Amino acid sequence: MNKPLDLPELDHPAPGAVAIRRALLNHLIYTVGKDPLTATDRDWFFASAAVLRERMIERWMETMRSYYVQDRKRVYYLSMEFLMGRSMMNSMLNICCEKEFQDALDDLADAGLKPERLREMEHDAALGNGGLGRLAACFLDSMATLGVAGYGYGIRYEYGMFHQSIEGGQQVEHPDNWLRYGNPWEFPRPEVLYPVQFHGRVVDYVDNHGRRHSQWVDTSEVMAMAYDTPIPGYATGTVNNMRLWAAKSSRDFDLNYFNEGNYIRAVQDKNESENLSKVLYPSDSTEMGRELRLKQQYFFVSASLQDMLYRFAKSNLPLAQLPQKVAIQLNDTHPSIGIAELMRILLDLQQLDWERAWGITVRTFAYTNHTLMPEALETWPVALFERVLPRHLQIIYEINHRFLKDVMHRYPDDPSLWRRVSLIEEGSEKRVRMAHLAVVGSHRVNGVAQIHTRLMKETIFADFHRLWPDKIVNMTNGVTQRRWLHQANPALSDLLSSRIGKGWLKDLSKLRELTPLAQDAPFRAAFAQVKLANKSRLAQLILQRQGLEVDPRSMFDVQVKRIHEYKRQLLNVLHVITLYNRIREGADVPARTVIFAGKAAPAYHMAKLVIRLINDVADVVNSDVQVRGLLKVVFIPNYDVSTAEVIIPAADLSEQISTAGTEASGTGNMKLALNGALTIGTLDGANVEMREEIGAENFFIFGLTADEVAAQRAAGYNPWLHYDNDAQLQQVLHMLRDGYFSPDEPGRYKAVFDALTYGGDRFMLLADYALYVACQEAVSALYRDPEAWTTRAILNVAGMGKFSSDRAIAQYAKGIWNV
Ligand SMILES: *Cc1c(COP(=O)(O)O)cnc(C)c1O
Repeated sequence: MNKPLDLPELDHPAPGAVAIRRALLNHLIYTVGKDPLTATDRDWFFASAAVLRERMIERWMETMRSYYVQDRKRVYYLSMEFLMGRSMMNSMLNICCEKEFQDALDDLADAGLKPERLREMEHDAALGNGGLGRLAACFLDSMATLGVAGYGYGIRYEYGMFHQSIEGGQQVEHPDNWLRYGNPWEFPRPEVLYPVQFHGRVVDYVDNHGRRHSQWVDTSEVMAMAYDTPIPGYATGTVNNMRLWAAKSSRDFDLNYFNEGNYIRAVQDKNESENLSKVLYPSDSTEMGRELRLKQQYFFVSASLQDMLYRFAKSNLPLAQLPQKVAIQLNDTHPSIGIAELMRILLDLQQLDWERAWGITVRTFAYTNHTLMPEALETWPVALFERVLPRHLQIIYEINHRFLKDVMHRYPDDPSLWRRVSLIEEGSEKRVRMAHLAVVGSHRVNGVAQIHTRLMKETIFADFHRLWPDKIVNMTNGVTQRRWLHQANPALSDLLSSRIGKGWLKDLSKLRELTPLAQDAPFRAAFAQVKLANKSRLAQLILQRQGLEVDPRSMFDVQVKRIHEYKRQLLNVLHVITLYNRIREGADVPARTVIFAGKAAPAYHMAKLVIRLINDVADVVNSDVQVRGLLKVVFIPNYDVSTAEVIIPAADLSEQISTAGTEASGTGNMKLALNGALTIGTLDGANVEMREEIGAENFFIFGLTADEVAAQRAAGYNPWLHYDNDAQLQQVLHMLRDGYFSPDEPGRYKAVFDALTYGGDRFMLLADYALYVACQEAVSALYRDPEAWTTRAILNVAGMGKFSSDRAIAQYAKGIWNV
């Protein structure tokens, strides 16, 4: 048990290049089963993964064992999404032997191995939509690096985020069959198997002591099987665990069908229950309220809670001690059914009384809110809940009853308050408000940037803030500098380390030491050289993938993120068209390459229309000789973590232009600034704090503030006022309306024009248009002075120390988890 499995010949010597080389050959032959003579790039990738994985296992076991022996308080991060990307470079860096491994790979070139192709063989683990899922991945990295006993719990989707291709200018979705060649990082645990119940009904009974109890019976059952993935910390012995659940049918065959000779039907049933973990819902920041989605949520939450309580039981402590040993963090409301589930376990299975069960539950859970937008706040029809989780609905009603009784006691004359805070939304169709369940059932609720937390207190959760003034706290997001600077941008990492040492890899605040180097001409030249090389690398990718030539000396103006109206890619397009018109009129501007990437939810028609518009504008602009190479537009397909790792280090300008008050934090903004892009953005999300840290003089801010947006909306915002007073804006909008970019179908973008005018311009693009265009002129002016630009780029990197997920996790640990 204590002695790990070894392959013949391999005796875990110091991880030098020679030993790694031998291990690679061993694994190619004995694990992958291939002769070096015929091995493909993929075979070599699997051999490399096996070597790295082997080096993680002992530390992983040692970490788990030490948590157990020390009886450490565990942090469970419950998330429907983990957007991990690739793991090979990360394991190499974190486990030991980045340099030696690279040397070993170079060494094996004569055996047919092509190191640069190997990396590309790994399929992204894209079990998430965007920022929320990537945050979860950064948090796992930071928890492991800081030695927090943190576990990620989620779903092992068989199909992750769809693959996007662009055909005829339009998004086409393809299934992401990421497990086709196997996943070398995961360990299936067929013995870690929990039953999860659905449907059925509730019966009440009275026990021997005359106490009333409820029992959930006649349920149908699905099994949850664990798959574990090691999460190595950086330069530490710690290797944490991410446990994802796959649905398995509870029996291989339903014996009834089998006895009736209906073998086919029995197998079909098996498939149906296994559908639960089949596919990730590809919609970001909007909810679609489908039964399968609710079942996915309960499925993984139920299995995770059973697993945590099994682990807790080994400590032999009474359940009253649970909050001292367990912290559960809800990544958005998606896992908030866990609050009702823990109550059910404590009440129905452990027979605790309500008050004790509720005290334990509230002190164990904490909830992270990710959005203020009403359409993104999850609610479920009561009728659906009653059918799928009848006992949980009862418990939610009881939570609500007791909560409202308390509110009525404190505010007896305010029935509209009672209605507003209720966990049940009344109306033609009654619905359960999951955000209210999460707030009432948690001891802490956090926003993800200062402005977002302030707006939570002032708007969606204002009533709750009045009830519990200490419950809502701020935990500004961060990203892991190991992946987003060191791995994605090795040249910049080396340059920084050569001047300030490698301390920033574990303590990002050390980047402040770069401040004086902004005045150092040789450093500036080296910094600019790195940026240019990264831009050339991206230009290569664009040429390969799209056959489009772009000039690395032009300004790379980058907006990469999910396509969403609130993120205002369309405002960027309006600027592109404005610039196009000015260039055709003879304006002299510095050359720009405007780069977009991002996926639209498959059913989000306006977002898909924006993708098509970007591609149509690109066609017109890129083939117009009058543009004289001063403007190029590129839409890079299939934005995912691996694509981000190539685009972000190459950006000069980072577009963070959401309507103020809509982007909770953003993390793309952080990754870009960390890689030396200047930001053009609104005072929204973490942009506000980034500007504070970096200095307003190094940051391009424009547009309405969140308070101004709210005031204009309250007063009745009228987009026509801006339209009527701005000839340049009119010209741009008319080009859209009249089919300038879609001559084959002139009405194609009429809906875009209408949304911005007759439709009321929900995200106030027209209000910010002139300010945005003016701000872009200031950007262009600065770009004409390369020394000044690079100085500011360096100061941006120097100011990003706060935005490490290490800092965020340290704050959660102290302020919420008490670890
Ligand atoms: C960081 C990241 C995001 C989030 O970007 P925002 O600009 O904050 O919305 C989305 N997708 C991927 C692949 C990312 O790496």
